[in-house]
Amino acid sequence: MEQHCQACGELEFSPLPYYYLWKNKEFNLVKCRNCGLICQMPKPTPEDLNELYSDDYFDHGHHGLEERQITYEQLKDAMPVGQLQDRIRNTVLRAHPNARSLFEIGAALGHLLHAAQQMGMTVSGLEISDAANKRAKEKFGFDLYKGDFETMDLSAEYNQWDAIYGGDVFEHFLHPGIVVDKIYDMLKPGGVAVLVVPSTFNLFSTSVATRLLQLSGKRRKLADNPYHIHEFTTATARRIMERKFQKITIYNDIKSPSEMNLKDGSLAYRIKFLFHLINYPFTKITGRNGDRVTIIAIKD
Ligand SMILES: [Zn+2]
Repeated sequence: MEQHCQACGELEFSPLPYYYLWKNKEFNLVKCRNCGLICQMPKPTPEDLNELYSDDYFDHGHHGLEERQITYEQLKDAMPVGQLQDRIRNTVLRAHPNARSLFEIGAALGHLLHAAQQMGMTVSGLEISDAANKRAKEKFGFDLYKGDFETMDLSAEYNQWDAIYGGDVFEHFLHPGIVVDKIYDMLKPGGVAVLVVPSTFNLFSTSVATRLLQLSGKRRKLADNPYHIHEFTTATARRIMERKFQKITIYNDIKSPSEMNLKDGSLAYRIKFLFHLINYPFTKITGRNGDRVTIIAIKD
């Protein structure tokens, strides 16, 4: 089946010098020739996704947890509720001070929803992982939707929600365009969508590395499984939200250099770190080119 860009519908893509290798299959990164949205080509199949998000996703599959020697659940349990509530205040309530209901896409074990509930909000959500869904019920008594937001019939939820929140989930969808349309339908007029996504391709170091790889004709295998089907920048995040939304604000944030994972200490990582030392103050001052973007969109 022919692949079209989820933000603009374009059918032509340019190759990027990056790929994932999983189960002996290559998933190349390509860039839309019209709007620049980056996605995998080919994308994983629905069967691949089932396997990628099998029961142990939150135990072993999740990025970077191995090094910390604790489970995702321990990590989240250790996070003060107030910190999650601040996240809701700084995003959802900043855009929509009267929001009283919140639906979370990719609710994981339910910690954010629990924090919202403690603030008096009505909450619900959806989680693709069976194991996480069960834990959310055991820990917090939540009966969440179980499945893929993209394909599930959620018409019972249309025009019901003041806020829809998705943290580190938007980049995981096969068809984020469908996700944007569905979020829009589920919001009440005046409701707010908040999506937080990693944005590695916003960084100076990634731009330079990409150019150097292209000049040398080499390709780089990306670590991790092919979880991130799309890679957003400030510009492409805005572009895809414009399918439905007119009021869109995008905030850039960036890890402090002390939080950088230097991994093997190789030359490539040291150079990346040096770029980060320049990128960090630049993002803090200008609000541009961060490694994390928060998308806030309001339904008219
Ligand atoms: Zn495009």
